[in-house]
Amino acid sequence: MKKNLFKGVAILPIAFALAVTTGCATTEQSQPQVQTATTAESAVVSTPVAEKKVKKNLPTVAILATGGTIAGTGAEGKSTNYKPGQLNVEALAQAAKLQDVAKVHGEQICNINSDDITSEIWLQIANRINKLAKDPAISGFVITHGTDTLDETAYFLNLALKTDKPVVVTGSMRPATAISADGPLNLHQSVALASNPAAKGKGVMAVISDRIYGARDVRKISTFNVNAFSSGDYGSMGYVIDDNVLFYSQPVKKHTVNTEFNVSNLKTLPKVAVLYFNVDTDGSVIDYYAQKGYKGIVIAGAGSGEYSVSWKEAIARHPEMIVVRSTRVGTGYVAASDDYDIANVLRCDDLQPQKAAVLLRLALTKTSKKAEIQKIFDKY
Ligand code: ASP
Repeated sequence: MKKNLFKGVAILPIAFALAVTTGCATTEQSQPQVQTATTAESAVVSTPVAEKKVKKNLPTVAILATGGTIAGTGAEGKSTNYKPGQLNVEALAQAAKLQDVAKVHGEQICNINSDDITSEIWLQIANRINKLAKDPAISGFVITHGTDTLDETAYFLNLALKTDKPVVVTGSMRPATAISADGPLNLHQSVALASNPAAKGKGVMAVISDRIYGARDVRKISTFNVNAFSSGDYGSMGYVIDDNVLFYSQPVKKHTVNTEFNVSNLKTLPKVAVLYFNVDTDGSVIDYYAQKGYKGIVIAGAGSGEYSVSWKEAIARHPEMIVVRSTRVGTGYVAASDDYDIANVLRCDDLQPQKAAVLLRLALTKTSKKAEIQKIFDKY
């Protein structure tokens, strides 16, 4: 594994990382200005700058790196069976060729597979961005992230951040060592978007494969294709081509500075699980989550958020839990139903099940009353 890092596409990132960690001026002619810090803010290590080549008056974008395939490495040229979360933020910024786009402030939040993201990490990112956003020198933010759960993190931040500065989440489908790795261009486009004044006030966005998606509706739709994201029925918000940003639509649901959620004093979020219904299954899986202390569940139900009598009976055994009906169908709205919307059960509107879980976790930090939580689902 290590051997491959020093070959081919990964050699520039490594050279750059060494320059940063030793604080030396680099001999590379085209480095972006990068400052790095740990999240404890203890290690701003250098600003390697080739003065002649860095444009003056570039905006500053903070890149918060969390890992994923965009930071992944594996067998040279291959796009599968690699390890996510191997390269650091300096290496990612180096490969994205940002010298004409923005100055970069880099922070390594974690370096993990995004399936291991936790609510504690979400809160750490949100609080860090909320703090950095007060700095007038920072124009926008990019979070590098694994694509598996990128949609959940984006929606959480869309609801929890208290800034109207652009915030963009990006990742890649191929590791840095693959042929035609997609990470550098995705990051380049994301930094271009985050530094563009037209992106202000549009909520958290995701950039993948030239397209801009709104955080509420974006979801992963392919396990391998580089064009792996979609917003279901709603299309993308626009394009980024090189570093040109083109918007065609914007979110209508409340986000960021206009939400009621304040996460600044939270250490964790209430637990909520998504349960996928299929025929002839035992609803007692709901008993399991109740015993584990989960405060709510989202059911990815059949059709318009429906499930069997066995599941209904299990729900009735736990009046203390909030149950949100969503659907495994992929697109569409979950309609009101006298048969299902009883006791502690409410509806997700048209949110994907994993997005409904994010919203329910935040809603439960405000209230445990069903009617109030339904209003929250109707609003966001
Ligand atoms: N398993 C990886 C992750 O989510 C996949 C990716 O980044 O594309 O971290």
